[in-house]
Amino acid sequence: MLVMKFGGTSVGSPEAMKQAASVVGKMKSRYEKVIVVTSAMAGVTNRLIAAAKAAESGDLSTYQEAQKELLALHMSVVEKLITDEYEQATLAQWFKDRLDELGRLCQSIAVLGELTPRGLDVVSGLGERMSAPLLAGVLRSMDIDAKQVDATRLIVTDNSFGNASPIMDTTCEKCRQVLVPMLESGTVPVVTGFIGATKEGIPTTLGRGGSDYSASVIGACLDADEIQIWTDVNGVMTANPSVVPGARTLPRLSFTEAAELAYFGAKVLHPKTMLPAVEKEIPVRVLNTFDPDGPNTLISKDGATDGSVKAITAIKDMSLINVEGKGMIGVPGIAARTFGTVAKHGISVLMISQASSEQSICFVIPSESGRLAVKALEEEFARELARRQIDRVEIMENVVVVAVVGAGMRGTPGIAARLFGALGEHGLNVIAIAQGSSEANISLVVTKEDADETVRRIHEAFDLSGTESGVSATSANRI
Ligand code: ASP
Ligand code: MG
Repeated sequence: MLVMKFGGTSVGSPEAMKQAASVVGKMKSRYEKVIVVTSAMAGVTNRLIAAAKAAESGDLSTYQEAQKELLALHMSVVEKLITDEYEQATLAQWFKDRLDELGRLCQSIAVLGELTPRGLDVVSGLGERMSAPLLAGVLRSMDIDAKQVDATRLIVTDNSFGNASPIMDTTCEKCRQVLVPMLESGTVPVVTGFIGATKEGIPTTLGRGGSDYSASVIGACLDADEIQIWTDVNGVMTANPSVVPGARTLPRLSFTEAAELAYFGAKVLHPKTMLPAVEKEIPVRVLNTFDPDGPNTLISKDGATDGSVKAITAIKDMSLINVEGKGMIGVPGIAARTFGTVAKHGISVLMISQASSEQSICFVIPSESGRLAVKALEEEFARELARRQIDRVEIMENVVVVAVVGAGMRGTPGIAARLFGALGEHGLNVIAIAQGSSEANISLVVTKEDADETVRRIHEAFDLSGTESGVSATSANRI
């Protein structure tokens, strides 16, 4: 059994939707049982959220505009791809009903002058509740037996509105009850991504980009053979192709490698969203809807053990904070207090490095929290600063973290030498370094100006465009 998830751009226009539907048709002939999970059409969720926020401040024109444009957007697909008049009328009515619902919700938000997370979830989930019936209709117009399924019937979550977590055992029970009979009769269920409901039936969402999560939850519940994430790029690349022209698709990645890449800002699946699949060891494949026979990436438990460095990613707009002082040597608790203070302000720390001399602790946080962190640390260490046990709390803004990822780095000697050798040779200055204990990643801090060049030089040093550490383009995955 196969779960196929389509992202917003894959269903974002009549052409895209047609392409997505033909990919489903192709897979249906290969796998007997296919479940489709879809995102809202590209841009729709943002429009809905903007309408709700505008309503909160009393602006009703934004939702009215959205109603018109979203009706036109969805109807453009119906008009181009669906000829059956009954289907056309049914879908038109369905969209109108959902958009009326948007109107009623926005009016109540405006009356209350308050947009609660609970209210926002109802509004932002409307996009999937329109795209799923639409895609099901398009599939039927191509003679594929398909039926929309509202995930509020399947995915039972806690009540963390805006970022709900599925309760797996009840969810799995419902998935089996609802989806298995459909699959057995040859129907393709087209499930709304992103949304769920509490056990009381109150609608929730799984967080932005949550449709991947929906797919992995459903795949895990039904023990799918594979979960396919259909997007608009050829899987996961060795580096950002707009920075490194020779970047290529990685045919295989392990779950750990994919998680490291995602953590450092690569456009891979969010680790949380993969978790249900990881637990069941279900392979996840990332493919391009617009190049279905092109290269793709298979993420699985073992990945590939070949190669050392697999991919390089850069995360921008970071600040490096440095707590420094000779008097820190041997003073217990400085590190704990440093990170305790940062955590108290809800600032997430991306990487940490401490010199073994203990004269400084440095760490990287998002730029927007930089000044706040410095102020908080100066307050926390006011006494130590006065006594000169700590000399200063410094900030370096606009730095970039470059993460070099590959599970094969573990136990491969000479990686660091090759890495830093290449950078030294080209006069690229590394400000800080950290290696995770998993050894699947080495991260470096460089200036914004050096970032792209650093990525390119590392890519070159490990010959990631070539065949040495990976698989050549000709033997890349084909599905
Ligand atoms: N439509 C939702 C969003 O834009 C969920 C998704 O696309 O995965 O966040
Ligand atoms: Mg999306």
